[in-house]
Amino acid sequence: MSDDHDHHDGNDDHELRVSKIRDGTVIDHVHGGQALNVLAILGIDGTEGEEVSVGMNVPSDRLARKDIVKVEGRELSQDEVDVLSLIAPDATINIVRDYDVIEKHRVERPDVVEGVLSCPNAGCITTGDEPVTSRFSVLEDGVRCSYCETIVRDEIASLIDT
Ligand SMILES: [Zn+2]
Repeated sequence: MSDDHDHHDGNDDHELRVSKIRDGTVIDHVHGGQALNVLAILGIDGTEGEEVSVGMNVPSDRLARKDIVKVEGRELSQDEVDVLSLIAPDATINIVRDYDVIEKHRVERPDVVEGVLSCPNAGCITTGDEPVTSRFSVLEDGVRCSYCETIVRDEIASLIDT
């Protein structure tokens, strides 16, 4: 079985591969393969009828391959953007109104994220019964629990507390 796509569409219309949205958010320049994690961060699993377009492994000038997520009728909270920056540090957030991009900015990595990730260390004070809010320092290449110093570099998305 071959699943080659021997189909040439030309290289000049990458943007058109994912349909335009009217009002909402386009998250562009997501590292290839992270689009589903982006959806997880936004709490989107399709069950609520959200209108979402996802482009995966689209050729990109800035990244070798990028993912694009377009969400109709939704703007992101700062918390969501902060977590997003951890798995998609080069992402661009485009706010779209009436088919026009009215605002466009790069995500910025925060120094600290609180209450959004859960520590993978079962012995950590934040995972016990006591209500201690999780707190992670954001490193160059991962995050570090401020309580038990556990460092997570991969699979950050799996720590997201939803
Ligand atoms: Zn910890």
